[in-house]
Amino acid sequence: MSRLFLIYGELCATHPWEVIVAVLTFTVCFLTMDKQPASKPFLSPTAGCSNCNEDHFIAADVIVMTIIRCLAILYSYHQFRNLQKLGSKYILGFAGMFVVFSSFVFISAVLNILHIELVDLKDALFFFLLLIDLSKAAKLAQYALLSSNQIQVHQNIARGVATLGPTITLDTIVETLVIGVGTLSGVQRLEMLSYFACLSVLVNYVILLTFYPACLSLMLNLSKITDCYKEEQGDVNNMLVEEKDKSNPAVQRVKMIMSIGLALVHIHSRWTMSVEELNETGNKTTVRCTETSSVYGYLLKQFVLSADHIVILILLITLIVKFVYFESKDDFDGASIVQERRRSVQRQKRTYSTSVEIQTDEQPDNTPEQTTYEERTDSNRNLQECLQFLRTDRANELSDDEIITLVDTKHVPAYNLEKSIDNPQRGVKIRRKILQNALNNRHILNDLPYENYDYTKVMGACCENVLGYIPVPIGVAGPLRLDDELYYIPMATTEGCLVASTNRGCRAIERSGITSRIIADRMTRAPVLRFGSIVRATEAIAWIKKSGNFDKLKVSFDSTSRFAKLQNVSTHIAGRYVFIRFIAETGDAMGMNMISKGTENALKTMKESFPDMEVLSLSGNVCTDKKPAAINWIEGRGKSVACECVLSSKVVSTVLKTTTAALVDLNISKNFIGSAVAGSIGGFNAQAANIVTAIFIATGQDAAQNISSSNCLTIMEPWGETGEDLYISCTMPSIEIGTIGGGTVLPAQAACLKMLGVQGPNARNPGENAKKLATIVCGAVLAGELSLMAALAAGHLVRSHLRYNRSYSSSFDSSITCCGSRND
Ligand code: NAP
Repeated sequence: MSRLFLIYGELCATHPWEVIVAVLTFTVCFLTMDKQPASKPFLSPTAGCSNCNEDHFIAADVIVMTIIRCLAILYSYHQFRNLQKLGSKYILGFAGMFVVFSSFVFISAVLNILHIELVDLKDALFFFLLLIDLSKAAKLAQYALLSSNQIQVHQNIARGVATLGPTITLDTIVETLVIGVGTLSGVQRLEMLSYFACLSVLVNYVILLTFYPACLSLMLNLSKITDCYKEEQGDVNNMLVEEKDKSNPAVQRVKMIMSIGLALVHIHSRWTMSVEELNETGNKTTVRCTETSSVYGYLLKQFVLSADHIVILILLITLIVKFVYFESKDDFDGASIVQERRRSVQRQKRTYSTSVEIQTDEQPDNTPEQTTYEERTDSNRNLQECLQFLRTDRANELSDDEIITLVDTKHVPAYNLEKSIDNPQRGVKIRRKILQNALNNRHILNDLPYENYDYTKVMGACCENVLGYIPVPIGVAGPLRLDDELYYIPMATTEGCLVASTNRGCRAIERSGITSRIIADRMTRAPVLRFGSIVRATEAIAWIKKSGNFDKLKVSFDSTSRFAKLQNVSTHIAGRYVFIRFIAETGDAMGMNMISKGTENALKTMKESFPDMEVLSLSGNVCTDKKPAAINWIEGRGKSVACECVLSSKVVSTVLKTTTAALVDLNISKNFIGSAVAGSIGGFNAQAANIVTAIFIATGQDAAQNISSSNCLTIMEPWGETGEDLYISCTMPSIEIGTIGGGTVLPAQAACLKMLGVQGPNARNPGENAKKLATIVCGAVLAGELSLMAALAAGHLVRSHLRYNRSYSSSFDSSITCCGSRND
């Protein structure tokens, strides 16, 4: 249904003139219709009752009608008061326009369909006022007023119609059918009032979904009213979304069933009710009445009639006086719901100034703050009631504001929101609200998305205190020919040129292909241990080296995992401090958690022989994880990989636009001499980190491990008989990588791993997927090295970077395609 209403709403918003003219034409048609005598004219309360006790009948009717009229006035007043609070001066205007035009159509419909006497029109109008629902019109106006340009006006009106349309339609059907039951009563007065009410509901519905959205669109576009909510835009949007979320499918279903039942009642009743029966009913009513004309009756009639007018007059005057003189000025200038909420939040912030600190390891302080909480105005339940919900695992039934209160009062730790309400996305949404309140800017996170994300995979595994996710552009380079297979390389980056550059490298090696080999596979963890003296420290090292003791450590280590297998240990001594570097295979996982678990267990075994050994830290930095260190460069860590490739002189000149001699020369001067002068560790390359990091982000690796993983030695040599062909190799001793665990489980990252055919564990040969991924990284690095070195040798670098990194315009330069090259 929503889709249909969306299309329809768009049509109304984009073709306002057509819709308005159509509605006006129909209305004029109504007015100019030839009045046919009513088959069953509606009667005034006493019509046909010449024999009744007329005065008593009039008295009762006037009292009832006076109450209805008063209610109608009060209800209209109440509706307009509510509209004042919606935070935009335009809403009242739109609602007023809606009421005026709807009542105009209503009057013409009443006069021409029901053929009533003009005297009865005032009753009809009061009924109309009683049944008109301005809140829907106001909501539609709110949607429209959220727009900042003409296109958005159309989109927002369509969105409003799509959101409100189905509910209003169902409500209108139900209301019409329910009120319609009155038209079957056989009591003429009640029938007439029921017809008024039905018509009122129908006219409301038609105008709300035709003339009104068209008028909104037209007026906003003509008057160029935009950004009416400015700072409150986020709040209003949220309120509308919350409102939408509130629609309960169960209630909708009940309404549908109810309307089917009522429709059946109507069909059955109208089918069996003949005109004769109707006449009979009329006659019976007539017979019941007896004619009286007493002085008492006359006086009563006069008194009741004037009382009717006096009561309504007093009510109207009271309301006008109240409205003009006694309403607080604030109420009309700024006491919108939005602003009330803001003040309330600021009150909360003053009271709980520490509430929004993002807690990581703090435990909740369960001290109730009853008195301060009482100051709150926007929570429906008090603190004790909220706590009751929390204790009975029903925190998810609380409103956002109530949950924020529980966070403020430290009954729910901010980091534990998702678990407390058992709803990850809502937890994230509430945390964002808390942060936005703290930063005093409700729109600060507007551009940081959080919806449509599977947080169940993130919670407790990949990230804490989640606010959403960062969309990073992802490009593809390739195909990369590696070990006779073709791979399309996913690269997540914001550096212009990078994907295009790698892509060109892939094109250069397209024919020859790259050959790769895994040289070693070992993850490392090195705890720092302290002994009483260098004597005990050296004894410990000797113990480890003694045959049989390593086996004891291995059994202990290996027992912690099916895949982590201890290969070796290396020992390092510094005074009475000992570092044992545990070296292990970790299957398809990068392995840091696995190896840490194994190391911890192995140390327990060692402590049996060295009770005086102090384990200062499970990580003693000799591992070395996420810090530049020669040990990884020299001894390797994770996967050690080498790749090589030979390029013909033709490819070097046509694709890379340079010569072998120039490349070899540059490689020596830059990657060897330059890096040596810089005292580099593992940085004997042009841009390995660029490619490593882009692939790491795309495939869910631990991005901080790009430090050691980017260690690379690029060698270029003249090749072939003439020496004009090019030999290139890249040796990367420490690629810390996995295809299972960490961020690899997240759907988008897993998709990138699937692109490479290495997602998850390799069931047949555990470890194969991670090794293959490491060779792909090394192969892509080689492609990147070729391209950048060629660009530098040919003097293209600065030109292409300026061209693509500073391209702020949104237009896409067609000279670059994902598989093309900027230098082509
Ligand atoms: P993990 O997800 O902690 O462990 C891998 C899990 O996958 C293990 O339970 C393992 O089984 C299971 N598994 C199933 N099939 C496998 C296969 N074919 N090969 C290997 N394992 C398989 O992953 P991890 O790589 O050890 O740790 C990665 C996480 O550690 C990342 O989030 C990273 O950011 C983080 N990290 C931790 C530290 C640290 O010091 N702890 C340091 C840096 C990074 P078993 O239970 O039988 O082993």
